[in-house]
Amino acid sequence: MRADEIREAFLAYFERHGHTRVPSASLVPAGDPTLLFTNAGMVPFKDVFLGLERRPYRRATTVQKCMRVSGKHNDLENVGPSPRHHTFFEMLGNFSFGDYFKRDAIRFAWELTTGVFGIPPDRLTQTVLDGDDEALSAWAALGIQQDRIVRMGEATNFWMMGDVGPCGPTSELHYDSGPAACTCGRPDCGVALDNGCGRWLEIWNLVFMQFDQAPGGTRIPLPQPGVDTGMGLERIASVIQGVPSNYDTDLFLPLFLHIQRLLGHSDAERAEQTVAYRVLADHGRAMTFLTSDGVVPDNEGRGYVLRMIIRRAIRFARRAGARDPVLPGLTDAVVSTMRGAYPDLATHAPFIREVVGAEEERFQQTLDAGLGRLDDLIADARRRGVTVLSGVDVFRLYDTYGFPPDLTRDVAREHGLEIDEAGFTAERARAQERSRAAETFQSDAKERAAYAALRETGTSSEFVGYDAFEAQGRVLALLRAGNQVASAAAGDEVEVVCDRTPFYAEAGGQVGDTGEIRTRDGVVAIADTQRPVPGLVVHRGRVAAGMVRVGETASLRVDAPRRRDIMRNHTATHLLHRALREILGDHARQAGSLVAPDRLRFDFFHLKPVSPEERARLEARVNEQVLAALPVRTEIMAYRDAVATGAMALFDEKYGDTVRVVTIDEYSRELCGGTHVGTTAEIGLFLITSESSVGSGIRRIEALSGRGAVAHARGREELLRETAGVLRVPVSEVPERVRQLVQRARALEAEVEAARTRAAAPDLDAIIQQAPEVDGITVVGINSPGADQAALRALGDRVKSKLPSGVIVAASASNGRIEVVVMATAGAVARGAAARKIMAVLNRRLGTRGGGRPELAQGGGGDPALLEPVLNDLPAVVREALAAVADGRR
Ligand code: ATP
Ligand code: MG
Repeated sequence: MRADEIREAFLAYFERHGHTRVPSASLVPAGDPTLLFTNAGMVPFKDVFLGLERRPYRRATTVQKCMRVSGKHNDLENVGPSPRHHTFFEMLGNFSFGDYFKRDAIRFAWELTTGVFGIPPDRLTQTVLDGDDEALSAWAALGIQQDRIVRMGEATNFWMMGDVGPCGPTSELHYDSGPAACTCGRPDCGVALDNGCGRWLEIWNLVFMQFDQAPGGTRIPLPQPGVDTGMGLERIASVIQGVPSNYDTDLFLPLFLHIQRLLGHSDAERAEQTVAYRVLADHGRAMTFLTSDGVVPDNEGRGYVLRMIIRRAIRFARRAGARDPVLPGLTDAVVSTMRGAYPDLATHAPFIREVVGAEEERFQQTLDAGLGRLDDLIADARRRGVTVLSGVDVFRLYDTYGFPPDLTRDVAREHGLEIDEAGFTAERARAQERSRAAETFQSDAKERAAYAALRETGTSSEFVGYDAFEAQGRVLALLRAGNQVASAAAGDEVEVVCDRTPFYAEAGGQVGDTGEIRTRDGVVAIADTQRPVPGLVVHRGRVAAGMVRVGETASLRVDAPRRRDIMRNHTATHLLHRALREILGDHARQAGSLVAPDRLRFDFFHLKPVSPEERARLEARVNEQVLAALPVRTEIMAYRDAVATGAMALFDEKYGDTVRVVTIDEYSRELCGGTHVGTTAEIGLFLITSESSVGSGIRRIEALSGRGAVAHARGREELLRETAGVLRVPVSEVPERVRQLVQRARALEAEVEAARTRAAAPDLDAIIQQAPEVDGITVVGINSPGADQAALRALGDRVKSKLPSGVIVAASASNGRIEVVVMATAGAVARGAAARKIMAVLNRRLGTRGGGRPELAQGGGGDPALLEPVLNDLPAVVREALAAVADGRR
């Protein structure tokens, strides 16, 4: 049986036995912020078991996506070494909500495994909770000898959701792979040892929800015991397919082939890298399904877990020899192997690719620098015979290389080392102090004085980066915290001044360049470039490796793709400026701008909001210039000449005598020192993303160009396609369909409202007809969940109007309390069944407080769990009330 067939056989089997097939819920639990991920099949049914939610069925069967990477269930570190633990896996389950119990659950499990799945009965061992005779005899009833059944303690065979709530004993099915598979080597090897021995594989856990555990530990029997079972698809597949590990099933083999292709491995190489393949396959599935369910990498919460999984996968890929990005290929492979069972994956595939691709790119850079350094640290620790990496080192790794501490911990553990957690935390706190001090220091007089002093000694930098992204130069000065230093070593924060530089220093709204400065044996990672005083360009960064010294020659290299993005945005800004004046009027002049790699922001003078039509025209006008591929030229000229030829000057900018003029063909002419593309065609596409107000008379447009615009457009397209898919209409019909749906929803709401009023009333005639009699008094009990006192009274009145003689108990339970109304007809009162008397009995049985008159009594409070049993036993209540009356008479 292939995995696809196993899923289907499982669901179909339970369907045949009266279960409703329910689709898998999301990995992100709905409305449950306390739980990071869905980690078992019962999670979506939690409220049903708790009695908080009702479903139209009492038996359900699912194949549920699960993640076990946090909290009590964290199998992350098992992945790889363990042939049977995954982070992401599929759990097959069947559920009974107050319907069948142990006997049937056990029979189903036995019939399915030994019948449908054809597993030889003598290969299966069952465990029960010691003392659970009901489970024991249920197995015995199937012909299993009692002495073969393993009795276990609560540690393994009692299940609880948390510290309180539904819980109960469990019974598990273990598969016996035979003595040859034993890895523990103990003469008494067996399930009872629970020692993770390879011979025994837990495949199915049957949970019997039997008690409600109160705070303090007392267990009250549930009025409606239920069943929750879970069987790992990957494990049962390995058993059915007769293979030694989950990874040898058809769920993973195709993935392994893809991975082998991605890594370019021979079969022999692949065989050597089992753990890496397992981790890649497992984590590949996890990241694909998580992203598909809307989780994106982040620094906290679910996104953080995803980020760790992605990073862990990359690390194993690199260790297995990967040099190029592997994750997009990996997630594609997961999509293609799993899309049959999870069609959503195909819809989200482009999004998944993009998310993991970007994360991989970002992490690749971090890794290269950090792993080498970490290896050194580990080797050093080994040499010195210590088993703990110092907090300072771990922090430096994090601070300098952006290398996440979790990863350091992970790698260290693989080498049998720990990290000094307390030391790390302390060092981070110290660094925060330092950076707070440094921040205030930055604009400090001391530093400015240092720059001015440099200028005075004749130090100056020539900017050569209009056309070039790389240049050779010489290190003229190094500064640390405002002090000139002769050299800087790995880890040092440093400012580098060179005689020539292709790095653009932040000016005119355009952000500073980033990149790298290399000397003979040093590398400085540049994070920002500034011009603190005219003529001096300061590169700010950290020495990533080796050492840099004043006087050395240096190769300076700008992060070119980033700079190209900036150039596109800058030229686009000029086009937008011109278009604004064309469309809104001459007043719409620039008031400020930000030109970053990923977006542009343009503030301009205008009194009222830009209308959607104007916005569309602006966008179209700019794109016209883009499509026209207009040449962009720059020239240096006298300020006076420039203004005379109509170049736009910015009102708040100081200009020297000679200025730089950027001309876009005939269309635009501005004084500007920034960097631009050669032709407008390079902009590719221009999209306005927002328009807003910033203070009086100034509006702000935010826009994208180039890669950013394309990604944005693609995202929107994806969204629309997905929407159309959900609506099952062509994209062009989406608006009309949504309009219809909104109308329909309104109509339905009205209908539901009407129906609710009607349905709040159960079928009273039927209830009255079936009502029992006590001494000739008809006794009607109605449970109307959620109803308040007024609704219960109204309900009682309606029953009373149909009832010649009798008593009515209408009750509800909600928000942890009972509401109850008791009514008695005149005839019933005459026979001694006064409402007040019945209320008194109810108070005793339900724990409610209440009272009233002979015809009408009301009460509330009590224990909701008692309501259903007491309502089912109303004749006894009435009899007790009558007896009390009789006693009173006597
Ligand atoms: P184990 O002791 O093997 O870790 P468990 O007791 O944690 O299993 P349950 O919580 O009872 O497992 O989950 C029900 C079933 O789900 C298990 O019997 C097993 O088949 C499967 N399962 C549990 N954890 C994993 C996992 N990390 N990867 C794959 N399947 C799992
Ligand atoms: Mg487990």
